[in-house]
Amino acid sequence: MTQLKPTLVLACVVVTMALAGVARADPPAACWSAAALAGRPDEVAKHRPGPSDQVSVPQASPPNASVASPGSGVVRRVVPRDRRKLVALTFDLCEGSGEVAGYDGAIVDRLRALKVPATFFMGGRWAQSHEERAMQLLADPLFEVGDHTYDHADLAHADAARIDLEIARTEAVIGGLSARLAKTCPAAGLPPKTRLFRFPYGACGAEGPAAVRAAGLVPIQWDVVSGDPSGVAAAPMARGVLGEVKPGSIIVMHANGRGRHTAEALATIIPQLRARGYEFVTVSDLMAAGRPETSGACFIEHPGDTARYDHPKAVPTKTKGAGAMPTPSSE
Ligand SMILES: [Zn+2]
Repeated sequence: MTQLKPTLVLACVVVTMALAGVARADPPAACWSAAALAGRPDEVAKHRPGPSDQVSVPQASPPNASVASPGSGVVRRVVPRDRRKLVALTFDLCEGSGEVAGYDGAIVDRLRALKVPATFFMGGRWAQSHEERAMQLLADPLFEVGDHTYDHADLAHADAARIDLEIARTEAVIGGLSARLAKTCPAAGLPPKTRLFRFPYGACGAEGPAAVRAAGLVPIQWDVVSGDPSGVAAAPMARGVLGEVKPGSIIVMHANGRGRHTAEALATIIPQLRARGYEFVTVSDLMAAGRPETSGACFIEHPGDTARYDHPKAVPTKTKGAGAMPTPSSE
């Protein structure tokens, strides 16, 4: 009886496993180890930039030739058809100039573990200083990535040209990472082009929403503010969110380390909403499932409340804020 060579046996095992689907995993697990995907505590806090953190501002792509997005105003919520109990969790990944923001991996780990779809509004600078994390999020079919400007610009007084520049720079960064991902992680393929936009600080001027739509993106805000940068503890944050969610709600949170107790609050929010019959979807899936409720003006919780960012010394009072940051530059 002839003996099979060990290499042949190994090859047979690999082929059998591949056919059985054992050796193949969905992205991003196909391209990163579990350890490389898991969040690390040392990534959460922001740090001041050092020499290795210097990033160069990318060349803006030529003017966006995409078709303008229909509609007007900023989306705050969606009214789902047939009163379906859908809800969208959104997480901002903000990073301004002169800082390196964090990555709150505990949030992403929890979403993956519980298979909760979510939308991340990613800043261009954040993506540059967190390339690997950005590609992991882009690779994950559970998640959708939107544009949160290049350097977390306060666009309250911006004209269309300024908004175009922010979008073009961000798309240059995210587009570059998407192309790299398609090469290095074929299982992920080329991620879909970003179609969603979120104004930093929840602030926009009169021209803002139309300028974003002319560039082919849809401006997305929220109707439920978690207040996670304010330091509110997980239990009251969860109570607040659970008290405000209705079918079609869009919830704003932060995954750049600026949100505090966010992952802990999600441990309550996710199972409780599911127990009430809610299904988590990305913002694009939410919009496809109903009629967007829009507003011509941007605001955090009440019209006019973003004006506090025009006066850095003003102290926020009652609003929980989309960031609850004292000044735009510090968020
Ligand atoms: Zn932000």
